[in-house]
Amino acid sequence: MRKKLVAGNWKMHGSLRQNAALLEQLKFGIAEVQCDVAVCVPYPFLAQVQSVLAGTQLLWGAQSVSEHESGAFTGEVSAAMLREFGCCYALVGHSERRSLFGESDALVAAKFVAAQKAGLVPILCLGESLVEREAGQTKAVVSRQLRAVIDVAGICGLMSAVVAYEPVWAIGTGVTASPAQAQEVHAAIRAQVGGLDGELATGLRILYGGSVKPQNAAELFKQADIDGGLIGGAALVAEDFLAICLAAN
Ligand code: PEP
Repeated sequence: MRKKLVAGNWKMHGSLRQNAALLEQLKFGIAEVQCDVAVCVPYPFLAQVQSVLAGTQLLWGAQSVSEHESGAFTGEVSAAMLREFGCCYALVGHSERRSLFGESDALVAAKFVAAQKAGLVPILCLGESLVEREAGQTKAVVSRQLRAVIDVAGICGLMSAVVAYEPVWAIGTGVTASPAQAQEVHAAIRAQVGGLDGELATGLRILYGGSVKPQNAAELFKQADIDGGLIGGAALVAEDFLAICLAAN
């Protein structure tokens, strides 16, 4: 039985003042929640999050990570630095990184490996665009993105990783994949992994992301291969985020 995980992606939102209120509300409400819960926050807020959440059942992480260990890479943040701030997770390959910052499959794979090498659990985001879905390429795209990581990290790399299926057309749009649409892709991801290592596939957590709200979370999380969610907009409202976490109970 896979324990569900709900991870919030704050994107580039928040301020020290707003975060303080949000984190206090999360700390207060989390006692009722049985699944694993994490927040992935902008780098400058990691110290605040570490100091407020240390010792609670909430975990935290970053939204990206450098593929390099250290060196002359102005503006970058290494996985070891993230570990120093108590990060458990790092998102890699979020569709906004892929589309707005030109991150290729190969770069995402390098970031995945760098994160793991420093002891972070990468949350590998995969997903097709609307054009790709309409062209019937959903499974091919997701499979290609996943294979790029397996080719570099090896199938064992997925042992301490989380996968998040996030159809690009559902992120921040209010349009969510139907539970059946999401389940179909999740099952395909698990089957692809299962073709290489059955036991690993059975234990692999595959999150769904894309306009998850308190109203649709329970139906999504009921699907056989959906092991929780990666939550954007709704992660900024404590009441909504906690309701989504409770839906995963
Ligand atoms: C995301 O940012 O990964 C995401 C899924 O956003 P939203 O929940 O707002 O669609």
